[in-house]
Amino acid sequence: MPAASSTWVFPFDAAEASPELLGGKGSGLVSMTRAGFPVPPGFVISTAGCRAFYDGDRNLPPGLWDETLEAITGLEKAAGKTLGAGPIPLLLSVRSGALVSMPGMMDTLLNLGLNASSVEALSEVSGNPEFAWASYRRFVQMFGEIVFDVPAERLQSAVNSAERRGLVTASDEQELLARLERIILGYARRPIPEDPREQLQLAIAAVFDSWMSRRAVDYRRINGISSDLGTAVTVQAMVFGNSGEHSGTGVAFTRDPTSGENSMFGEFLPNAQGEDVVAGIRTPLTLDHLAQRMPDIYRQLTDMAGRLEAEYRDMQDIEFTVENGKLWMLQTRTGKRTARAAVRIAVELVNEGVITQHESILRVTPNRLDELLHPVVQAADTDIIIATGLPASPGGASGMVVFDADEAEELAAAGESVVLVRRETSPDDFHGMAAAQAIVTARGGVTSHAAVVARGMGKSCVVGCEMIEIDYAQQLLTAGQEVVSKGDRITVDGNTGTIYLGAVTTVEPQLDESYATLMSWVDETRTLAVRANADTPDDAAAAVRMGAEGIGLCRTEHMFLGADRTEAMRRMIMAPNAVFRREALAELEPLQTRDFEGIFAAMDGHPVTIRLLDPPLHEFLPRHEDTVVRIVNLKLKLRQSADLDDINRILSEINALEDVLQRIERLQEANPMLGHRGCRLGIVYPEITEMQARAIFTAAVRSAEKGIRVFPEVMIPLVAFMNEYDSQAEIVRNVAESVFAEHGMSVDYLLGTMIELPRAALTANEIARSAEFFSFGTNDLTQSTAGLSRDDSGRFLPGYIQRGIIDSDPFRTLDLAGVGQLVRMGVDRGRATRADLKVGVCGEHGGDAESIAFFQDVGLDYVSCSTFRVPVARLAAAWAALGIRPD
Ligand code: PEP
Ligand code: MG
Repeated sequence: MPAASSTWVFPFDAAEASPELLGGKGSGLVSMTRAGFPVPPGFVISTAGCRAFYDGDRNLPPGLWDETLEAITGLEKAAGKTLGAGPIPLLLSVRSGALVSMPGMMDTLLNLGLNASSVEALSEVSGNPEFAWASYRRFVQMFGEIVFDVPAERLQSAVNSAERRGLVTASDEQELLARLERIILGYARRPIPEDPREQLQLAIAAVFDSWMSRRAVDYRRINGISSDLGTAVTVQAMVFGNSGEHSGTGVAFTRDPTSGENSMFGEFLPNAQGEDVVAGIRTPLTLDHLAQRMPDIYRQLTDMAGRLEAEYRDMQDIEFTVENGKLWMLQTRTGKRTARAAVRIAVELVNEGVITQHESILRVTPNRLDELLHPVVQAADTDIIIATGLPASPGGASGMVVFDADEAEELAAAGESVVLVRRETSPDDFHGMAAAQAIVTARGGVTSHAAVVARGMGKSCVVGCEMIEIDYAQQLLTAGQEVVSKGDRITVDGNTGTIYLGAVTTVEPQLDESYATLMSWVDETRTLAVRANADTPDDAAAAVRMGAEGIGLCRTEHMFLGADRTEAMRRMIMAPNAVFRREALAELEPLQTRDFEGIFAAMDGHPVTIRLLDPPLHEFLPRHEDTVVRIVNLKLKLRQSADLDDINRILSEINALEDVLQRIERLQEANPMLGHRGCRLGIVYPEITEMQARAIFTAAVRSAEKGIRVFPEVMIPLVAFMNEYDSQAEIVRNVAESVFAEHGMSVDYLLGTMIELPRAALTANEIARSAEFFSFGTNDLTQSTAGLSRDDSGRFLPGYIQRGIIDSDPFRTLDLAGVGQLVRMGVDRGRATRADLKVGVCGEHGGDAESIAFFQDVGLDYVSCSTFRVPVARLAAAWAALGIRPD
């Protein structure tokens, strides 16, 4: 065996694990061997050898081959077998393995060591000539392809035709072998060497060569892996699970990868090789069968599972082989698992003293929590995908397709599951969205109305499904070849943005004790507070259940959704002057007051940030085209009607609608998102601000009178100029004083603003003179900084990402280089004026794990996100506190 001073070659039992030097696979085998696991013996030729190979114009560097020969001698001794001869022939696997895994991109050679004499010996010791000759034939095929570059298709077509004729006996294999050898000789002009050492020398060079194969080079370029790393070559004694009754092969997870339960889980195939399991030709047995057939091996495997977990400190996925009653371990790696299992295993490993609480937090990636909180679609390969769009709100749901909100409501009331499909949604569709199981829109981005409302309700939603055409008149949607009519069933996967035909299996979420435990550690670890964007008492109660520590954004306009409220809102908008407007507002005030009381009750002891009315008023009116159609229809009816009462009724309806149409036209703006909205509404119609402020403070005082601890924070939206803020702040403060005076009691409150326009971030030092808190509205800030419409950019942003123009959707993950600068500047300038300025974020980025890491960096006090995203944000905040960025 080479001394520890060897330069290029490292036997498994005499090396230190080092992924850089030995590659991931080689290093893993070394560490398993060193830890005393039964690994078939072998050695690793280092990545340095590969680099030297290229430095030397593709020649093995001096000394490498001598060290290899020495290692082979050691290997023969350790395995008790002989390379290239009987009585027991040593067969080798020769595998590539770089620092970074590059699955299938480089070459591997198996059964090396077979030749005309050792195949006979193998046939004898195995008592299985078919197996011996098939192994030899496979080796020749691989060698021809990998070492001599014979076209793979040429060799495979010979194998295919032999298989068609029947490849059963040893002589069938011998015949095919002779055929392959002739093909190889024809291409390579030389036979495969009989001397296994010569075979090995050529194989090592071929594996080094494959580092620079076209596919490996492309893979590295795409994945940003350096070509300077080089690959290691692992040479290992092969063991055979198909050596008879006392042999077999299997895989085992040290814990159940679905539930996380601490019991070994796996499959076993007696008298078989690993590839038989992968090929799925034979159905594997459960490990219980192994326990019955080979109790001793089963005991060893169980014991090994425990030792492996102690060594690697995580659940392992093991490949093992039993060769004539001896257990061998071929590979161990961290086992893949469901989110539920990830949480349970992380918690139990802490309880068992294997890992720390902080480590357990890092064992669950924030985005995976969605799998725990929402139903997950489990599609089969045979399920038909109709279309894909932007995943706007997670979870899977199936239902009948409907195109109209009223219909959605009716069918849902009758107990049907429905999916509401619209080109886009507006407040008019709210009741249909509330009734539906899932929502699909053809247009819109991840911060569009449908997306925000669906996320708030925790409903599955896919938006920006540009490939679907919706025909409202015919009540059908088309997507490529597929036509789906009203009443057909579809399934919406809000995690991936996929729409399937028919009802696809979904798995319901399950929260258990482990989840609660992990989240308690998360909360102890994080320093950022997490609040929810919640608009109703029910939302607020749900937010508390999700672990929110307050409300960071109550969008008061959402309180005007729902038929009766929209009507009152419309009367306010239609009012010809301030007097009538106040009358309509007086109808809305008690509704808002009641809502705020409900929210304060649910949020007892936590802050509630209430934003004054924000959207442009036209959003509360019916659509222009719908109103025109209704007027035309009424006029047609008028012509056909002879009854005077009828005529009068229709005429007054037409008059009313024409007033509405006029108002819609007056409110129309070319760029409504840059138009008359936010604080600009309150400046033109101060009575709206007054009504809202009165509702807030009346609710606060009444709640405080009942013993509820209230911390209202009134927020003024879309401020660009300090004076805008001041003018609204004055109204709010005056109303607060008068409400407090009326009730003879006051409550503490904060008055602040959203920072959602670049000018506000740039002049944050001025605004902070008056504002007591900032909340970054990163949806609008992204829209206004990048000049990207949050409603329409779904049409082309996916193409931008595909072409690599941008890395990710800036409405989902904060554009750190651009918008991020404004956020940082806003925080710094704001706090330069007011050191104790409270700062948070309430745009959708408040629930995005990557963005949360940035918000921690810039020193925000809290993030606020949709209710059902709160657990993800809590976990992401803990990651951020630990200084780890999620990928
Ligand atoms: C924002 O702009 O980021 C925000 C939270 O407000 P909205 O999404 O309601 O415009
Ligand atoms: Mg906004």
